[in-house]
Amino acid sequence: MGLVVQKYGGSSVADAEGIKRVAKRIVDAKKNGNQVVVVVSAMGDTTDELIDLAEQVSPIPAGREFDMLLTAGERISMALLAMAIKNLGHEAQSFTGSQAGVITDSVHNKARIIDVTPGRIRESLDKGNIAIVAGFQGVSQDKKDITTLGRGGSDTTAVALAAALDAEVCEIYTDVDGVFTADPRVVKKARKIDWISFEDMLELASSGSKVLLHRCVEYARRYNIPIHVRSSFSGLQGTWVSNEPQHNQQGDKPVEQAIISGVAHDTSEAKVTVVGVPDKPGEAAKIFRAVADAEINLDMIVQNVSAASTGLTDISFTLPKTEGRKAIDALEKQKANVGFDSLRYDDQIAKISLVGAGMKTNPGVTAGFFEALTDAGVNIELISTSEIRISVVTRADDVNEAVRAVHSAFGLDSDSDEAVVYGGTGR
Ligand code: ADP
Ligand code: ASP
Ligand code: MG
Repeated sequence: MGLVVQKYGGSSVADAEGIKRVAKRIVDAKKNGNQVVVVVSAMGDTTDELIDLAEQVSPIPAGREFDMLLTAGERISMALLAMAIKNLGHEAQSFTGSQAGVITDSVHNKARIIDVTPGRIRESLDKGNIAIVAGFQGVSQDKKDITTLGRGGSDTTAVALAAALDAEVCEIYTDVDGVFTADPRVVKKARKIDWISFEDMLELASSGSKVLLHRCVEYARRYNIPIHVRSSFSGLQGTWVSNEPQHNQQGDKPVEQAIISGVAHDTSEAKVTVVGVPDKPGEAAKIFRAVADAEINLDMIVQNVSAASTGLTDISFTLPKTEGRKAIDALEKQKANVGFDSLRYDDQIAKISLVGAGMKTNPGVTAGFFEALTDAGVNIELISTSEIRISVVTRADDVNEAVRAVHSAFGLDSDSDEAVVYGGTGR
């Protein structure tokens, strides 16, 4: 008997009907002879609504209480799902992250899983139950406080449980038919990818393709857990994410690695510019130490050439919008120490990235990317690259047009049916 871990995202369990539909799918997997562990997200946009609520009560809510609040969303859906399964005549038990043995560090709102001890889940499975686990949460090892894993963290819960339980596969059920060459909400002609390597998926995820969370892919790669991303609304095969292309649609012929895997976009970042920094050793170190001490993760960094007449330069970096306030406060405190003139904060930016392992060996990809943006009349503000990715920052208003232009220019447009988006609000 195989063991499968299935994860259902918020859009798949948005209302009572959704919960009943998902319950049927889970029971089918059980009837097929599997032991089934289900990880579930909060219903619909519940997490966003809880965040809005917290902000109305306190502008900067305390991390511990904020986490306690947010985990309530997943508790609602896990209990309802277990009830719906029982109603279909099958046994199910729900567990919080803590009860499921998801042990984390104590960084509230973005805790990392450090261990998974799923003794109670195993026990429940051995008794013939379907085990339902609340995603996105755990308990801290030292303080035993409830933690959350960061937005989209249920994906990570699912893969971590799959690894700890030695599951054959981790199935991620969502509101689209798999991983596409671009976000199907933006590019109707996006194509479903049958197989993608962990490496390319990691870059897409960290560049904003929120269909899978970066940390979950990292985890899956480390423990070599194949992920199958598919729709909970259709019976179609989705996208296999794994080391080797053995899990292709037909299961017979290997799928070839594409030169370009896809185009990702991200509107969740802002840009900070530190204006008038003295161009001498140690200045950048002071700036980034201040930001690091505030526990802020940066993305792109660019330093301008200093003006010969003033000996001053500007340093820009991007970071999650949610960290903007913290970064500005941390830098303001260092103003005299660093000796810069002023700070500029811009949250009307977007990042567009082209991802593909084939870039390493195909010259001209960068030029083609920039030409496509030029043809679309899109101005580039920052550029960064890795071996298999090129990213640019543009105005937020240009993002959809830019993504479509790049997608077409690299021949990624599908000539068959339009990509289907089954649910969700895109929030
Ligand atoms: P869930 O609620 O199931 O966790 P998410 O909203 O987190 O779902 O992720 C699914 C969404 O990811 C899709 O609805 C789609 O808009 C978005 N998305 C972004 N990039 C991609 C991509 N390359 N392929 C598929 N979906 C993508
Ligand atoms: N409910 C959480 C969120 O919206 C976690 C998740 O859905 O993965 O971010
Ligand atoms: Mg998600």
